[in-house]
Amino acid sequence: MKSHAQVVVIGGGVVGCSVLYHLARSGWKDVVLLERDELTSGSTWHAAGGMHTINGDPNVAKLQKYTIELYKEIEELSGQATGVHITGGVLLAATEARMDWLRGVVAKGRYLGLDLEEISAEEAHRLMPLIDPKQFVGAVRNSEDGHLDPAGVTHAYAKAARKLGADVERFTKVEDIVRQPDGKWRVVTNKGEVIAEHVVNAGGLWAREVGRMVGLELPVLAMEHMYLITEDMPEVAEVNASTGKEVIHAVDFDGELYLRQERGGMLMGTYEKANKPWSEFTTPWNFGHELLEPDIDRIAPSLEVGFRHFPAFQKAGIKQIINGPFTFAPDGNPLVGPVRGLPGFWVACGVMAGFSQGGGVGLALSNWMIHGDPGFDIWAMDVARYGDWATMAYTNAKVRENYSRRFSIRFPNEELPAGRPLKTTPIYDLLAARGAQFGVAYGLEVPLWYAPEGVKDEFSWRRSSDFEHVGREVRAVRDSVGLSEISSFAKYRVVGQGAEAWLDEMFACRLPKPGRMTLAPMLKEDGKLIGDFTLANVSRDGRASEWFLAGSGIAEQFHMRWFEQHLPDDGSVAIEALGLRRVGLSIAGPKARDVLAKVTRADVSNAAFPFMAIQSIDIGMSPCLVGRVSYTGDLGYEIWMAPEYQRSVFHALMEAGEEFGIALFGGRALNSLRLEKGYGSWAREYRPIYGPLESGLDRFVAYGKEADFIGKAAALAERDSGGRFRLRTFIVDTEDADVIGDEAIWHGDNVVGWVTSGGYAHGSAFSVALGYGPKEIADASDGFEIELLGKRYPARIQSAPLFDANFERLRG
Ligand SMILES: Cc1cc2nc3c(=O)[nH]c(=O)nc-3n(C[C@H](O)[C@H](O)[C@H](O)COP(=O)(O)OP(=O)(O)OC[C@H]3O[C@@H](n4cnc5c(N)ncnc54)[C@H](O)[C@@H]3O)c2cc1C
Repeated sequence: MKSHAQVVVIGGGVVGCSVLYHLARSGWKDVVLLERDELTSGSTWHAAGGMHTINGDPNVAKLQKYTIELYKEIEELSGQATGVHITGGVLLAATEARMDWLRGVVAKGRYLGLDLEEISAEEAHRLMPLIDPKQFVGAVRNSEDGHLDPAGVTHAYAKAARKLGADVERFTKVEDIVRQPDGKWRVVTNKGEVIAEHVVNAGGLWAREVGRMVGLELPVLAMEHMYLITEDMPEVAEVNASTGKEVIHAVDFDGELYLRQERGGMLMGTYEKANKPWSEFTTPWNFGHELLEPDIDRIAPSLEVGFRHFPAFQKAGIKQIINGPFTFAPDGNPLVGPVRGLPGFWVACGVMAGFSQGGGVGLALSNWMIHGDPGFDIWAMDVARYGDWATMAYTNAKVRENYSRRFSIRFPNEELPAGRPLKTTPIYDLLAARGAQFGVAYGLEVPLWYAPEGVKDEFSWRRSSDFEHVGREVRAVRDSVGLSEISSFAKYRVVGQGAEAWLDEMFACRLPKPGRMTLAPMLKEDGKLIGDFTLANVSRDGRASEWFLAGSGIAEQFHMRWFEQHLPDDGSVAIEALGLRRVGLSIAGPKARDVLAKVTRADVSNAAFPFMAIQSIDIGMSPCLVGRVSYTGDLGYEIWMAPEYQRSVFHALMEAGEEFGIALFGGRALNSLRLEKGYGSWAREYRPIYGPLESGLDRFVAYGKEADFIGKAAALAERDSGGRFRLRTFIVDTEDADVIGDEAIWHGDNVVGWVTSGGYAHGSAFSVALGYGPKEIADASDGFEIELLGKRYPARIQSAPLFDANFERLRG
């Protein structure tokens, strides 16, 4: 074994081997994979080997498509058979709600280039004769489904990597990982040590244990998973004989089942409700090529449905039941990327569908390591989407929920209950008592809307029970004044002698003067967005420079990782995420100033406290930082305070607002309000694949400023070339449903773009969508349609904001 390497990859499952292959393919040859046993000795060897392109997140779906297309390449390069069979498949719906969900999948597939087609239950039966068509209302045909040999694929990755110069050391167990003073990693194994610049944790079932070696508690948990294999079935032989092909794949969402042909019989796997975690706290090192005891009682309810939906199974003998563990993150997507605070330590774990996702994970991670950027939008897989709040018990609750809902529909208005409430703000109970219906963002309970007694969300793809109440909240803001809780924003404090110069390089905007705020886009080297913030200069006379930043709450860890990677070494700048040590309330609407004036002695007139000003003032008896800005696009204020003051500020504002009919409004009303103003939001309109010009944030970019901000050259190049896309607001002529995001945008007969978010703008009474399309047709006056629930609706571009186009309310 070599004593030094550029990269040590820990784990010879399908994911580690894919990472190794991708690093070697991109030219990093000094890379070694350490495997404590034979390759495939974790969950890889007993996988059912199924693969498919669909995923709830379109960006993950793209990487799944890439993974499936990669198998030919590694087979050719390695000479190792992968056993890939692309059979095609059907996705089955037993209810209309499921069919609506599938129509959304088809619409997404159009701009992802996936070959999906809505078909009838009879047509599905013709393609997959084991189905009882009477049990289903419809289906979708997917030409890219298939299966493979898990060991073959893993060895093909490893052999191909070796051919490109990489090393694989089997029977080499990593026992410790120590960071050296020079920043390199000392990887201690049972066979000696390797000093490495980078370490990748692809430990699969042992990823938690490998993480613990560097003090990291990763939110992953293994679950037991069962599939059965039948004896040979005459019905299968009949299909093979009459079509000359294998029986195609099927996913029966309502039965929570997947099935495919296995030799002369069938393989049927389930995601059962009564699921069971495996090795909840630590994974035994002596676990390897053994299986777990099958528990047929646990999967019996799913099998009952399976036998009804696929009657041929009723007569089939069961040859074998496989029960094996594999790991999940709380939301079921992989954990990939660099770990905040551990330079050179990377993770590629929690991959629950290694044969659909392993290639994409390897590609993204190798790009990230080599080029400093994954090269795609991989937010849905980024390890930074979790913070310290994702504890072991939280992970346990969420993984169990996610497993039991693997094939369940999640409606756009459905909030999942497990692991809640976890983080709450001091006014949580006050809001709950007023009817708040909560959702969750980065572990924090956030009010979504306020329901009258006896009303709650009825889950639906269409406008639902909250519609009129959210409308009432929106109108209260537009007509008078509303109050909302804004603690879920991420808040940061930046101080230090070097703070100003550093911020000038981090942000593409011009820095605000003391007492002022600005919208602050943050770019990567390639000129694409990596954040959008409100940056406030809160420096006070005679004191050191101090800055307050507010940004996307879900991206706190993601942004802290970025900030810390770019901090100067000399200690001249300090940044901290304030978390819930700063909480917030916002008031907005034409009467917001009147309310504020009643609770403070400060002069809040337009002249003394104009738009984008910020100042420390007392509200009632409580010290607060108040900025004149509102995401509603209306006259409004964001009020920040230490948590111990939040209740008193809340009561003061509610009391002062009483004479104006102040109403509480939640996240759904805020969404409706920002949509009619055309304001984008991080991880939706603003993502690391769009430039400032494309996303419309160019108006905040100081292209001519002296500081050489990150991404400046690329942003200038984008300005010259015009980029590829444009973000636009559309008005959609829908009936009883609104777009939510990821729907296809058509122009004439072509899918030209995708929706990033949408909803009903109650203030202006339009159904609104924000989305991207190619710049060449971004200003076309007609011809657009947006596909929603399987139907195309006319859509037209709205060039001026629907609300307050002249900024009179905002600035007045
Ligand atoms: C019953 C079952 C059916 C499945 N069906 C499918 C399917 O149809 N399709 C699909 O895509 N996925 C399926 N999966 C999931 C799939 O198996 C996983 O997604 C995949 O195996 C994850 O691979 P991995 O490389 O991340 O982890 P693992 O396979 O667990 O590999 C981790 C490797 O790291 C090694 N290792 C750990 N710690 C150390 C250390 N300290 N030193 C050295 N080596 C170490 C281990 O020995 C192991 O070989 C199934 C899983 C099960 C259990």
